[in-house]
Amino acid sequence: MDAACKGKKFGHNFPVVGGLCSNCGISQNELSEKPKPKKLKETLRQSLKPIRGIHSVIHSLTKDISEYCGEPKKFALYLGIIKRIGQDRAYQIFSEIKQSKTIKSRAKIFMYLSRDKKSKNDSTNPKRRK
Ligand SMILES: [Zn+2]
Repeated sequence: MDAACKGKKFGHNFPVVGGLCSNCGISQNELSEKPKPKKLKETLRQSLKPIRGIHSVIHSLTKDISEYCGEPKKFALYLGIIKRIGQDRAYQIFSEIKQSKTIKSRAKIFMYLSRDKKSKNDSTNPKRRK
């Protein structure tokens, strides 16, 4: 038989302060204890992102392109070209050569597109100065 006060916060009968309830046997000290808040385990996952510098990006890009062109042994050549034309341009060319069907044409297209294109300074449209 459970006492009516069992498990409740009030209604116990403590004959002695700090003693046990004469009905249910719970100790007064236990009752008066404030429930401790559960500690939230903070699982701080440190995202370990590898620090990719610009050089490693270019290297991986060079690796992709040279392999895509079937010329992984010419890595250094491709690396030099890509460093010269820049990462963005290399990505552009890479996307263009992906559309070509044959491996041979890929390398040719890459070499063609990566050539220096001197921007034409058209003087056909001179600015007028007032
Ligand atoms: Zn009680």
